[in-house]
Amino acid sequence: MIASAIVRNIRDIVGAEYVLDSDLDRFGYSYDASFVPLFPANLPDLVVRPLTTGQVSQVMKLANEHNIPVTPRGAASGRTGGSIPLQGGISLSLERMNKVIELDEKNMMITVEAGVLTGDIYNLCARKGLFYPPDPASYKFSTIGGNIAEDAGGMRAVKYGVTHNFVMGLEVVLADGTVIHTGGKSIKNVTGYNLTQLFTGSEGTLGVVTKAILRLIPMPKYRNTLQLIFSSLDGACATIHQMLQSGVVPASAELMDRTCLNAISRNRKMEFPEKAEACIVTEVDGAEEYEIKKQAEQIEAIARKNDVIELRVAKTAQEADEIWAIRRALSPAVGALAPDRVSEDISVPRNEFPEIVRQIRQIAGKYNLAFAVYGHAGDGNLHPSILCDMSDPEQAPRVHAAVEEIFAATLALGGTLSGEHGIGITKQHYIKDALSEAGVNTLKAVKQSLDPKGILNPGKMW
Ligand SMILES: Cc1cc2nc3c(=O)[nH]c(=O)nc-3n(C[C@H](O)[C@H](O)[C@H](O)COP(=O)(O)OP(=O)(O)OC[C@H]3O[C@@H](n4cnc5c(N)ncnc54)[C@H](O)[C@@H]3O)c2cc1C
Repeated sequence: MIASAIVRNIRDIVGAEYVLDSDLDRFGYSYDASFVPLFPANLPDLVVRPLTTGQVSQVMKLANEHNIPVTPRGAASGRTGGSIPLQGGISLSLERMNKVIELDEKNMMITVEAGVLTGDIYNLCARKGLFYPPDPASYKFSTIGGNIAEDAGGMRAVKYGVTHNFVMGLEVVLADGTVIHTGGKSIKNVTGYNLTQLFTGSEGTLGVVTKAILRLIPMPKYRNTLQLIFSSLDGACATIHQMLQSGVVPASAELMDRTCLNAISRNRKMEFPEKAEACIVTEVDGAEEYEIKKQAEQIEAIARKNDVIELRVAKTAQEADEIWAIRRALSPAVGALAPDRVSEDISVPRNEFPEIVRQIRQIAGKYNLAFAVYGHAGDGNLHPSILCDMSDPEQAPRVHAAVEEIFAATLALGGTLSGEHGIGITKQHYIKDALSEAGVNTLKAVKQSLDPKGILNPGKMW
């Protein structure tokens, strides 16, 4: 419970209508898109929706003085429970801070508030011939602040990189309300520690991001989207591996197994060939038409050597959008296949991709569990999803054991627990396996120096 005098103070700071405390509102801000159970609910005591950095700063100052937990929140599309207010307190929603401050075409940079939707940034830049490449499948509804806090990836990471590759500078409100600015528009900048990169991926535990300066690049003039259907998952994996070895650098290369194709068939009422066991959606882009045509031909030739049974090359932008819409709708479609779904986000060095897929299938067989395997195969980031019923006391222990084996196999191949969704609540028990005790203690030391009272997003990451 937050004392009523403090609640009155917060209402004075942000305006009474932007401070919510009804049971219904508090419930609405108690969950995200992870598979953390809804009940018992983790209700915030108060939902606070500031409009300016000054308001965020004043709220943080008050919260720090009175030891009130604060959980920053963007669009709550996170997959690891990051915006769930585990210890009550304030759910600090950045959704009203949604202004584009400047599109600087000369420097090819955009400055935005944290609550701007990533898709809006993409569209605004595209109208000026500029390109913001990071494209999590949630880009139409997730915020740039949430993308920065999770260091979100996406389909185009294989060629262009992830969010941190495009963040040039940040405005951040620290736990005690101090406002700092990191980085800036200078391409080269080694003045002091790289705090911009420290806050990127910090999952709302070190500071509240209020503004960001993002780097842009020229929009590629030409793109070619291909959908390749294979009669074996091995053939699809081999195609991706050989494609990358051959020097082709696709903008994206996404893999889906047979279970995913079944989910899409059900969800979008479309048919795949009976023999289809896997599908790759890949795109090449560039400034020269001949160059991307040549790369698409190279991919086709490699796929033909690896059990491809159907090959579709998008002839129009609309056809390309149709192919991508299938991939973007995949996650909810897979989720609808079973009462529960335990979905991971492992990432391995690219050359180990076929091996981890092989080991995941072995683990699925060993524990007699249904798996859907899909992900950003081009950059080694995979989302193996166990389709299960966690209320079944016989099944749940098998699921936990399978997850542990997947993590162990991933780490043994030199990979990591999370490629893009972060640690949050769902992977915190495994972080020591990945970073060692000394590594986790170093994270804790950073946290202690920036948030000594531990009020920012408590209970997350470790
Ligand atoms: C269908 C679907 C597809 C997805 N596909 C992808 C994908 O391809 N790639 C990918 O990387 N992710 C993906 N995600 C996960 C999710 O969309 C991303 O993690 C996204 O970055 C979260 O943004 P958000 O605005 O929803 O943040 P939230 O979920 O609200 O918050 C996420 C974390 O960031 C913190 N946070 C939010 N805003 C701020 C801020 N301004 N300052 C400090 N901390 C803050 C929160 O405390 C929390 O810890 C997907 C999710 C869904 C539902």
